[in-house]
Order: sequence, then C-alpha cells, then structure tokens
Amino acid sequence: MSLRAFLSRRVVTPDGVRPAAVLVEDGLIRGVVAPEQLPQSSEALDFGDMAILPGLVDSHVHINDPGRSDWEGFETATRAAAAGGYTLLVDMPLNCLPATTSVAALRAKRDAAKARCRVDWSPWGGVVEANQQDLEALAAEGVPGFKCFLINPGIDGFTMVSDRQLQAALPYLARTGLPLLVHAELQGPINSATERLAAADWSSYQTYLQSRPPEAELAAIEMLLGMCRKCRFHLHIVHLSASQALPMLRAARSEGLAVTVETCPHYLHLTAETILDGATLCKCAPPIRSSQNRERLWQGLRDGTIDMVVTDHSPCLPEMKRLAEGNFKTAWGGIASLSVALPLVYTEASQRGFDLTDIVNWMAAAPAKLAGCHRRKGRVAAGYDADFVVFDTENRFVVSEDTLHYRHPVSPYLGESLRGVVKSTYLRGTLVFEDGQFPGEPIGDEIRHQRIDALTG
Ligand SMILES: [Zn+2]
Repeated sequence: MSLRAFLSRRVVTPDGVRPAAVLVEDGLIRGVVAPEQLPQSSEALDFGDMAILPGLVDSHVHINDPGRSDWEGFETATRAAAAGGYTLLVDMPLNCLPATTSVAALRAKRDAAKARCRVDWSPWGGVVEANQQDLEALAAEGVPGFKCFLINPGIDGFTMVSDRQLQAALPYLARTGLPLLVHAELQGPINSATERLAAADWSSYQTYLQSRPPEAELAAIEMLLGMCRKCRFHLHIVHLSASQALPMLRAARSEGLAVTVETCPHYLHLTAETILDGATLCKCAPPIRSSQNRERLWQGLRDGTIDMVVTDHSPCLPEMKRLAEGNFKTAWGGIASLSVALPLVYTEASQRGFDLTDIVNWMAAAPAKLAGCHRRKGRVAAGYDADFVVFDTENRFVVSEDTLHYRHPVSPYLGESLRGVVKSTYLRGTLVFEDGQFPGEPIGDEIRHQRIDALTG
C-alpha cells in the first residue's frame, strides 16, 4: 500500500490539538508531521476543520454473541461501533452463551466473530464461582483481563462471586498480572432496600432508585480496596455511579493501590430528576442518580479520579424493556449507546469547558491502557494502528432510529439533539464508516493481548 496522508487543522495528538498530516502506510501511522512537511508523493485526504481523533476504544461492551445474537451480535455491535467512532470493542464475558469463563468458551466466541466484525475486538475473561483453574489458561490465550460480579448479574450462565470465592481466585489472578474489572454493588443493601419497597409503585423511577442505594456501591468498593491492599492486583471499578465513592477511590490511589475507575455516558448525561415514571429505557445498574451526583462525576473526571468513559453498551430484545407496563422491577437493566456515545459525551463535556484532548484520554487512551493495547490503539502517533474518527464538532444531529445501527433501535436518547457528528471512521487505514454507510467487507480482527504489555506497564 502506498503512503497516504490524513490532514486536518485539528488533529488530536498526545501533545495536543494541532494542524497536522498523519502519514499512513500498511495500516499503520508512520508519522505525524506539520502539513507543510507533507511528502510530495503521498495521496492526501484533507478533512479541513473537522477533527481527527484516534479511533475510540470501548472496554465495556456486551456483544452477546454467541448464544444471544438475537439481542445484539458481532455484526450489529461492530457496525454501531464504527458509526460511533470506535475501532476496538472489548467484550464482556457475560450475556453470551457460553459465558467466556473457559478456553473452550473463548474459542466458541472466536468462531462467532470470524469475518463478521467491522471493527477490532478483544474478549474479557470471566471470574465466576468455580473457575479459578481457568484463569491462567485464559490469560495465556490472550484475554487482557477479567470481570466479576459481587452481585447476582441477573442472567443465566454467569454466577456472581462471594467475597470468599473472590479471595480464592485472587492468587490465580495475581499470577496473570492482568486487571480485575468488578461490578461493585453488594447484594445486602439492595435486598434490604427492596424488601422495604415491596408495596411500592414499581413504575416510579424513584422506587427503582431507592432500591439500589449508593451504600451498595460504597460497601463493595470498600471491600475491594481491602482485598487490593492485601493482594496487590490491578482493580478496575466498572460503571461507577455513586459519586460518594470518589474520596475513597482518590485516597486509595494516593496510597499507591493500582485502582482505575470508569463511568458511562448515561451517568454523565441523564439525571434521576428527569427520568419519567415508566421510562424503563433508562433502567441500568447501578442506577442513574441525581443531577448533583452527575456533576460530582464530572468533577471526578476533571480531577482524574475517574479515568475513562465507556459505554456499558448492553442491549436486549425490545420486549425485555417492558415498555408497555413500564415496570422498573421486571425490565432489563442496560442501555445501548455505542453509536451515540461520542456525541453524548462531547455535548456534555464541551458545556463544562473540556476539550477533545480530554475526550480522547477518557474514550481512547485510558480504555486502551486498561485493555493492554496502549502500544497500538488509542493514540494518533507513529507506530500506532491507523485508526481514526473524523468528528465534525461544529454540527449537530438528532438521534433517530436510523442513526443507531445496533440490532434493535431502542434508546433513551431518541429525539435528542446532540453536538458533534461522526463523519467517518478508519480501521487500520481502511474506511469502515462514512455518512451512514459501511463500505467494504468486515475487516475487524481480534486483538490478542500479549503478556509482555502487562509486565512492563
Ligand atoms: Zn456491563
């Protein structure tokens, strides 16, 4: 392949946003130079004022394939990802069948993904009640880390772990050197709250909110930090919602514990005050809390306590959202947002004085590091994969069913006007999305984690 140049007046590089030409050959970035240094021989694509960002990395996605591809699937999830500016998805080990808790299950997933992906993908492994012996084999097969639940995940095929079971798994996990991602809510405070709400109106969002109090998150995080202190592993808190946990997490960091934290676009955009009764499209766990909580999460991003913003894209069959009865008790908890996450976060972030460099840190560089592929994904820099999103920050669009691109166009964001339009997405130098279209065959590949990355940081 000959040398090509991607030009823009706003290339988001690790050194800031600047006019640049990104030189691409054989799917890799060969260099990032000033526009006037463009080699004569190169074929140039000029995006003008539209920004070039590194392809985004989403380290929290439920692709549900194999086994529940009627909910989502590799074709549709990676199509929505390409439309949203993502070039790598890291798939959670649950909601698919079999769950990714053994090497055999991982192989089944690889078969399901073959020739069906529009962007690259990686698999997280799962830690469940009795698979400690599988963890090192999964690590050797290339998973970048593991996920577990301290609470019933509410789906067949994946079990929660008790603190004792997790303690038993930690030595195996520590030997892999890989991060442990944890759904940090404890069952106890949720059970007590739910019992008190037995006679409450479950079409009311307030009922659901009260059933999952911040204490469930706080108690789980406190317990995990204790384990981390004893066993010294990389702990990653997924989808933080309760901002009350931020001081504790900040203190754990200054104490030297290896703790990273993510939150999601829905916690940064939606608020409990504006969720209507019966609006089960907004059900997720932990729940969306108050507007004051939302602002504290933004503050957590500002001061660096929260490292990244990932989608927790978690689709289901439309009927599972129980829209007809609007029952928050029985509706599926999960919000799909791959195709709109960048505009959602940009809309909110730009109102709070953040810029594209922040967005790239939260949505590309930090999740790439968590997934152990930060030497190849998440930056516009020489040697990296030529993964880009061309993002038009000066225009808006209204979220409609035909902008979603995942399997079932169900979304709490329909009808919203968002700032920033994903114009096109390139995967290893090849156009995979442009203006609503997906040219060419699916060329996405599995990115297998190489242990050396984990060992050298
Ligand atoms: Zn999830």
